[in-house]
Amino acid sequence: MQAERPGGGRRRIVIVGGVAAGASCAARARRLCEECDIALLDRGPYVSFANCGLPYHVGGVIAEEETLLVATPELFRDRFAIDVRTRHDVRAIDPAARTVEVHDLERDSVRTEPYDALVLATGAAAIRPPLPGIDLPGIFVLRTIPDARQIRAAVERASSAVVVGGGFIGLEMAENLVQRGLAVTVVELAAQVLPPLDPEMAGYVAERLRAHGVALRLGAGVEGFRPRDGGGLEVLAAGGEALPADVVILAIGVRPETALARAAGLTLGERGGIRVDEQMRTSDPHIWAVGDVVEVRDVVTGAWQLMPLAGPANRQGRIAAASILGRAATADASTRFRGVQGTAVCGLFGLTVAMTGASEKSLARAGRDDFERVYLHPGSHVGYYPGATPIHMKVLFARRDGRILGAQAVGEAGVERRIDVVAMAIQMGGTVYDLEEAELCYAPQFGAAKDPVNLAGMVAANHLRGDLPLAAWSELAGTTAQLVDVRRPAEYARGHVPGAINVPLERLRVALDRLPRDRELWLVCAVGQRAYYATRLLQHHGFRVRVLSGGMETHGAHAASA
Ligand SMILES: Cc1cc2nc3c(=O)[nH]c(=O)nc-3n(C[C@H](O)[C@H](O)[C@H](O)COP(=O)(O)OP(=O)(O)OC[C@H]3O[C@@H](n4cnc5c(N)ncnc54)[C@H](O)[C@@H]3O)c2cc1C
Repeated sequence: MQAERPGGGRRRIVIVGGVAAGASCAARARRLCEECDIALLDRGPYVSFANCGLPYHVGGVIAEEETLLVATPELFRDRFAIDVRTRHDVRAIDPAARTVEVHDLERDSVRTEPYDALVLATGAAAIRPPLPGIDLPGIFVLRTIPDARQIRAAVERASSAVVVGGGFIGLEMAENLVQRGLAVTVVELAAQVLPPLDPEMAGYVAERLRAHGVALRLGAGVEGFRPRDGGGLEVLAAGGEALPADVVILAIGVRPETALARAAGLTLGERGGIRVDEQMRTSDPHIWAVGDVVEVRDVVTGAWQLMPLAGPANRQGRIAAASILGRAATADASTRFRGVQGTAVCGLFGLTVAMTGASEKSLARAGRDDFERVYLHPGSHVGYYPGATPIHMKVLFARRDGRILGAQAVGEAGVERRIDVVAMAIQMGGTVYDLEEAELCYAPQFGAAKDPVNLAGMVAANHLRGDLPLAAWSELAGTTAQLVDVRRPAEYARGHVPGAINVPLERLRVALDRLPRDRELWLVCAVGQRAYYATRLLQHHGFRVRVLSGGMETHGAHAASA
């Protein structure tokens, strides 16, 4: 788009929605064009606020509401000459005339405004299903600053809460409500918390939540709400349980705000979001869409997705601005949206849980079985330096060429750093061999000379090379292999896989005659390391060997999630 219209006059960019995607689009548009008029319209009372911080404001960690305002309308006006108008609802688009109908909610007046380029950054709305009692007082969603204000007021008088939905926002709310002294129950329809994770990884999170007093009702839908005798509510869970709650938080997901786009005849996708191209342009050449309202391609599975995350929203806002202002689409990341990989992190009661790329579940949904998985449980830093804690990791990669497909990790320290490294590797099309070779920061208090990321690459690459053939725990039930537990006798006595014989690694060389050669041997130890050493030894002696990945630690995680 040129700064000048053909017949003269300044070009006009109108952006609907002024939070993550819209605000970043507006600011970048100004950096790219000094001669354009830019208007940012939002029906809410604030623009550019940090909704990611809202749970922590409810919990009191972020004490002052003002802290959540990343930029004010005044700052946009004074610094960027952007016309920001809050409490302005865009009610309709006329794509042929290139105008929008804007309702000024304060003055209750409606006017029609022209645009040369229109950006829909209308975000998503929290889902409120039409359940019996859904409109009773005390049932909240958390999306905006006024939502947080209402919840904070209700929490003052409350002693119990039910959080419906065990996703990232639901669990962040659970933690913050516990911090506020409430007895909290989380009700989740799936059989696990954090449904984007694979169940055995989510088990660590469930354990931590329970340890901090959060009651979990997993695999339980909510059927309705009713007033409780003496005040408050009851949440009616499937199976007939009535859970008492002074406050209910609905955190069961969001749906894209597509009403404007739909009415304007823009193409929507199969997941209900606005369809856009790599420059974030919709089916109308003068309209772009960014943020939670659009559908995006999953870079690993190629599937269309809704991915309501702040990072993609910000990047898309920048890309739309570049596209509107005529920056040619190149490989340069600021002009072409590459897709999403669902990199996410959450902190819960001192535990960090992070993921990037595909999960085993999402690969299965995409019909893929051409991948392998490894589990490992390295320390966050070397064991000789005080304070190391385990990082439970799972990495998924393609069987054919070792290309990394996804990773998940849970632990108390250093988790997000490892997942960020893998996230970047996925973005660059990297393989497990790249992880093996990655040169990463090391000093004793931060990591190890073989960082957990390197170890993940080594385990996976050794598997692909045949040096460490792995067996999946899910294969255990049907196997005819001889299970061999190579831990010390005392560890074996504390618990072992049924059918496993105990041959400690240190005694393996003198016990070779006791091991069958007509069957595969499946080795198990605590986390996989000793079983690897045993595998190499046994392979040199002609045995057919596989290792149960992640050892008894992963066995326990699978058993807990079953
Ligand atoms: C509680 C919470 C915690 C979160 N935590 C994280 C996190 O830790 N990490 C992370 O990556 N993501 C997090 N997210 C998600 C992240 O905040 C969103 O992905 C991001 O805000 C999306 O930005 P957006 O601009 O697309 O949409 P939104 O933030 O939804 O903004 C859309 C705006 O458009 C306005 N609007 C809609 N329709 C109209 C209309 N017709 N006229 C005028 N204005 C309109 C709305 O009022 C709204 O202000 C969290 C979200 C919430 C709610």
